[in-house]
Parts: sequence; C-alpha cells; structure tokens
Amino acid sequence: MISRLRPFVLAAFACSGVAAFAVPEARLPAPLIPVVLKVDDLSVRGNGAASARWKRITDFALERKFKLSIGIIANSLEGDKPAYSAYLKNLQKSGLIEFWFHGYDHGVHKDGEPGKDYAEFANRPYEEQKRRFEISQKLAVEKLGAPFTCFGPPGGGNTQASDADWEATTRVMAQDPAMKLWLYPKALDERGAKLQSAGKVTILDRVYQVNIEQPLFVPNPEKFIEAYAKHAPGRRYFILQGHPDQWDDARWAAFVKLIDYLQTNHIPILTPSELVASLSTPVS
Ligand SMILES: [Zn+2]
Repeated sequence: MISRLRPFVLAAFACSGVAAFAVPEARLPAPLIPVVLKVDDLSVRGNGAASARWKRITDFALERKFKLSIGIIANSLEGDKPAYSAYLKNLQKSGLIEFWFHGYDHGVHKDGEPGKDYAEFANRPYEEQKRRFEISQKLAVEKLGAPFTCFGPPGGGNTQASDADWEATTRVMAQDPAMKLWLYPKALDERGAKLQSAGKVTILDRVYQVNIEQPLFVPNPEKFIEAYAKHAPGRRYFILQGHPDQWDDARWAAFVKLIDYLQTNHIPILTPSELVASLSTPVS
C-alpha cells in the first residue's frame, strides 16, 4: 500500500498570508481505509428513555450526517416505552443509523466457579445462548421492524470466554437465520475463519490500537490519527469502538475532534452492512 502525504489543517491562513495555525501533516493511507463507528450499550434509563449523552451523539450524527452503528441491549426493547420507541424510529428514519445486537441484558453473571464474574455469553451453554438470541430477535422484530443482522458480544466480568463458549456462540451465529455479520472482539481466528468460509456470516475483526477510545471510555483523537496511518497497510477497514454513555463534556469534545478529522479528510464512515457490501467489490 502506497502512502501519501496530505495536510490536515485545522485553521485557515491569517490575513497576512502566513499560516496562523496548523497541526503537523498527518500521513494518510491511499486509498483511505473506511471506518465503522461502533458505539455500544444503548439502553434506557429509569424514566424509560435514552440518556442525554446518547441523544447528544445521535443528534450530532444527524446534524453532521455521518453513519453511526449502535449496539442495542435488547431488553431495553421490552414493554411500552413511547419516548424510547419514538427516539429509535426517528433514528431509523434518518437512514444514518444501523442498530446491531449487543446482548439481551449485557449482564454479568456468577454461574460458574466461585468468585468469578462472567460476561453474558461466557460460561453459558449453547441452549441458553440460543435462547438469548431468540428472545432478542423477537423484540427486534416487534420494536424495530426487523431482526438484527449483526452481533457484537457484550464484555464485562473478569473471565474470558472459553473455547466452549466460542463454540456455542459460533453455532448460534451459524444457525440464526437473520445473522449475517459478527463484530468480532478480537483478531480473526481459525474458528471465525471456518464460520466465514461457510458463507452465511461475515466476520469483521478489530485492530485494538485503532479505536475511538484509548484507554477504554476515553476518546483520543491524537492516538487514533497516529494509529490509523500506522496500521493501515494490509487493512481494508477498521472497526472503532466507543461508549457514549461514559463520555463527560471533556471526552465528548475529544470525540468531536475525531469526527472533525474523519470528515475533514473524507475518511469513509460506513455501517457494518455497507462495509460488507463494499468488501465484496475488489479493490481497484
Ligand atoms: Zn457493552
């Protein structure tokens, strides 16, 4: 992959014609590598509505017209929540938002060794994992009008998913009739490659250094800019993860800077579905 230099200028020239303020040139790959903005954990507050922080990021996506890919915790779709339903419908109508499945309850459970906490799909048998997919898909059909086609497993707990957990989740992903995409929480492995080669499910893997947040919960545009260029060789996309409900005003300002960078430099921002469609066409 050939790199080229492109200036990233934050401010215009002063009247004198001398550059008043500019950041150093950022090296951008050619072609530009598309990104997916994968934001996790949409749910409701006690009042049955999404939080002000969620509204802030979705308002911003609609105002700036960029694609946002939102992980819904499916049990938030249960019951009658008019404000939440209206919020989700408005986002769907915008054509800028893709919802994906981020677990039924995102709960941490203790059904295992004493003292250990497990994420929702860790240390759970196939039948239980399948049940959680099925009730969530039913809710998606009822409240979003269609089942989820993309899954990003929730984290949490202090225990990594075991080989048996991966085996069970892979079986459920292979069987769920609607599931086409898996936002993999790690680099592509042998099990994922095998699932993908069967043709139903595409796996979108991660490069952890290229992210919205560095460290977790802290948007960091400087780290992103550096890592985006550095890790571009050999990549066709990057899945960038964020947690908008964890962003106070300072973290929000950093996220806005990251979006400024993406939009100023015309880095494509796609949904998972758009990305997969683009991957099926060869690189020119
Ligand atoms: Zn999560």
